[in-house]
Amino acid sequence: MKPTHIEHIGIAVKDLESAIAFYEKTYGFECYKIEEVADQKVRTAFFMVGQTKIELLESTSPEGPIAKFIEKKGEGIHHLAFAVQGIEEQLAHVESAGVTLIDKAPRKGAEGLDIAFLHPKSTFGVLTELCEKK
Ligand code: ZN
Repeated sequence: MKPTHIEHIGIAVKDLESAIAFYEKTYGFECYKIEEVADQKVRTAFFMVGQTKIELLESTSPEGPIAKFIEKKGEGIHHLAFAVQGIEEQLAHVESAGVTLIDKAPRKGAEGLDIAFLHPKSTFGVLTELCEKK
């Protein structure tokens, strides 16, 4: 496995609009897209930083994974996403290396990417996402 770059960093926020305003005012980034991913009960906002994105995540439901994360840990960095090629093979590779997979098979994430999460218990505490643009 050799990820090509950090595709994005996911940041859990309570209020998407005020977080967007912060990123725009403070850093001069421009939010180029807001997208709801019903499947994951989130609303996301994206900023480009070089070839890496910042993905802000706001829960659309108190039962969603982002709401639960904020309840336990507060706002902050939620996950790290690596861009890979051949995501199915990469998943099989990390699983055979002993990594616990949250997603056994890729599913559709924001921005039309195929994504899959690795369990933080087997990645030194970092919720890690593999993603591939197809
Ligand atoms: Zn992500």
